[in-house]
Amino acid sequence: MYDITVRRHALALLEQGLTISDVSRRTGVSRGALREWLLRTEQNRELYVHPHRVCPRCTALPRSPEPEDSYAYLLGLYLGDGYISPVGDRTKMIWALRIACADAWPGLIEECVKAVKAIRPGNNVRTIQRVGCVEVNSHSRHWPCLFPQHGPGKKHERKIELLPWQKKIVDEFAEEFVRGLLHSDGCRFVNRVRRPLKDGDRWYEYPRYNFTNVSLDIQGMFTGALDRLGVAWAQMNATNISVAKREAVARLDAFVGPKF
Ligand SMILES: [Zn+2]
Repeated sequence: MYDITVRRHALALLEQGLTISDVSRRTGVSRGALREWLLRTEQNRELYVHPHRVCPRCTALPRSPEPEDSYAYLLGLYLGDGYISPVGDRTKMIWALRIACADAWPGLIEECVKAVKAIRPGNNVRTIQRVGCVEVNSHSRHWPCLFPQHGPGKKHERKIELLPWQKKIVDEFAEEFVRGLLHSDGCRFVNRVRRPLKDGDRWYEYPRYNFTNVSLDIQGMFTGALDRLGVAWAQMNATNISVAKREAVARLDAFVGPKF
């Protein structure tokens, strides 16, 4: 333990621009302690000046991103159709989160922008018109902290696993997570079936949801969340999962679509 006057003196020297080694030599305080004081001071300053810029994951005591419901939704969108890539010079460690929003879901772009802003309120969010979709794009140093599934190559070519803190959020906000996954990689469509009857043909409509993702890990997260919510599903083939039972579709309609 060091005396508070020693600590103040050491921090003042660091403020003047002396290196940690210099200050350690002059004051006798260990370099480890100096480093920690400096980090804590910087974090406090950041918290005081820009509370919204502080990353919940790379602070001394990591916590869950908030609001957790927005995070669960954004995680679903990201796992479905998002990616993280470095911006410009890699040494700056700035990353772009890009989420492709197709027009299959009305209001999706606004929803996506809202979720990005809720999770990183200090960063700008842009929308960029691309061929066939609108990209929601936001730059931050902290996207890899918030979405540690980030990595080189395509998501289906590597193992995608949720960390325990993400798992906890996804379990608690399973509806938001499923909603995000379906908004990025799913669709709702209506099967129309004709039944010939004595007094003429009658048409029946069967709405259903379809989720398409090549990654078995992401499929597993989707079906795991559906199980948690008690929504019946069926594996159609290697990449497609279908929700077609009447009560299961009604359950999804209550929080995913057809309108929101
Ligand atoms: Zn961070």
